[in-house]
Amino acid sequence: MSEEKFKNVISHAKEYGFVFPSSEVYDGLAAVYDYGQNGVELKKNIREYWWKSMVQLHDNIVGIDASIFMHPQVWKASGHVDGFSDPMIDNKDSKKRYRADVLIEEYQEKYKVKNRKEIAKAKKRFGEAFDEEQFVATNPNILRNNAKIKEIDDRLREGLESGELDKVKALIEDLGIADPVSGSKNWTDVRQFNLMYSTQMSATDGESQIYLRPETAQGIFVNYLNVQKTGRMKLPFGIAQTGKAFRNEIVARQFIMRMKEFEQMEMQFFVQPGTEMKWYTYWKEHRLKWHRNLGIDESKYRYHDHVKLAHYANAAVDIEYEFPFGFKEVEGIHSRTDFDLKQHESFTGKKLQYFDNEKNESYVPYVVETSIGLDRMFLVLMSNALEEEALGDGKTRTVLRLPAALAPYQCAILPVVKKDGLVEKAQEVFQQLKLDFNCYYEEKDTIGKRYRRQDAIGTPICITIDGTSLEDNTVTLRFRDTMEQRRVNIEELEGIIAKEVSMKALLKGLV
Ligand code: ATP
Repeated sequence: MSEEKFKNVISHAKEYGFVFPSSEVYDGLAAVYDYGQNGVELKKNIREYWWKSMVQLHDNIVGIDASIFMHPQVWKASGHVDGFSDPMIDNKDSKKRYRADVLIEEYQEKYKVKNRKEIAKAKKRFGEAFDEEQFVATNPNILRNNAKIKEIDDRLREGLESGELDKVKALIEDLGIADPVSGSKNWTDVRQFNLMYSTQMSATDGESQIYLRPETAQGIFVNYLNVQKTGRMKLPFGIAQTGKAFRNEIVARQFIMRMKEFEQMEMQFFVQPGTEMKWYTYWKEHRLKWHRNLGIDESKYRYHDHVKLAHYANAAVDIEYEFPFGFKEVEGIHSRTDFDLKQHESFTGKKLQYFDNEKNESYVPYVVETSIGLDRMFLVLMSNALEEEALGDGKTRTVLRLPAALAPYQCAILPVVKKDGLVEKAQEVFQQLKLDFNCYYEEKDTIGKRYRRQDAIGTPICITIDGTSLEDNTVTLRFRDTMEQRRVNIEELEGIIAKEVSMKALLKGLV
């Protein structure tokens, strides 16, 4: 059922001009996608919602746009050259390649599911009197499952942290983990694969290898003093950026969930050392609020605290969304300490310190980062919005219930027929609204068919021009979600649409 839903999302995205496989006429390029005429609008609006929520709503956050190419030493300093790799394992029979830690975590999830079932069962049995905390602390089945989860965590961490990958392989074998596709347990050794793409900076100098950035964050770190000084920023302050990142994802699947070229929206928040946990908690909560503010069901989101921390972090949490294929990370919030700035200091020999007037001392700030994948957020919205709605009498309609402020088009202008002066009147309406809104204009097909097409791309309001419009300057408004129709004067259109699709109203939910 869920797989089915996901397939529907992918085919809908293609059929309605949201997402196409890259270079499709050449049969596509694995894990690379292009955004079509509607997709590009939705993506731009998500980016804008993020950007405004960061830069416009915070007087201490500013934006930058750094280059994709950076000095190659940046990636040495950041740890990406030596450490940005995934432990991969191949199945010798199916020839499929997996991330070893993901295989293990998926196995572990079975125990977590068992625990959730135990709790749900007990809740039903004890009703009002149920004390979940006590139950979890004392129930023998749960305790046994938790001990197993911990044992697996400890062994996985030991293998990964020590770099002794044979221990990770041994864990896979001891747990009896089989290839999810073929069921075979015939595994290769676990090996590390670096995820960075590289290219040559100059055609003549073979030595000048550079990388395509695997994250946007480093562009912020190396510019932090430029921004701090020229913007006269005082701690705490943030720098926001959106832009492309590239990763040679070996196991690329699940549509735009995991791509080789994707877009990130990142914000690095620079704070006084010692205050980072306060800010970490603040951003953890604030970012979840940003997601929920889109009207997405609360139960669809959850936090996932990291047990295994990246080399630069002292605390990390993922915000996960329940996709049709299960809960997966959409955004990460990381307390990155002073790791990156200190590394850049040591690689460049330059000071990247902040002078604190109040304390009368200089120090390297700590950093809390929020990092969200724009494409993944796009997938969240598409998965959440797509609905096959039953209309009675066995009829259905496909409707994309996107938040109105993010929809590709804010309204559609539809003359009922292509004659009797209606086209001219509809054009007049278009001219009047086009400065404020992205308006879809369409004359072809029956009005019912045109409504359905607008429903399918998420247009919140259709404006229909008919014979009466010529007599009394009124039009019919038809609302996507309720299909309610209302007759209004053309003079009122701007106000009504502005209210319905307001980015300001959306942002207000965050303050
Ligand atoms: P994952 O564990 O899913 O690979 P990650 O922990 O490596 O993700 P980060 O490095 O924290 O991801 O990147 C921040 C965000 O960028 C992620 O939360 C995700 O939304 C997005 N992202 C990362 N890799 C990809 C990718 N290959 N394709 C699309 N989005 C991605």
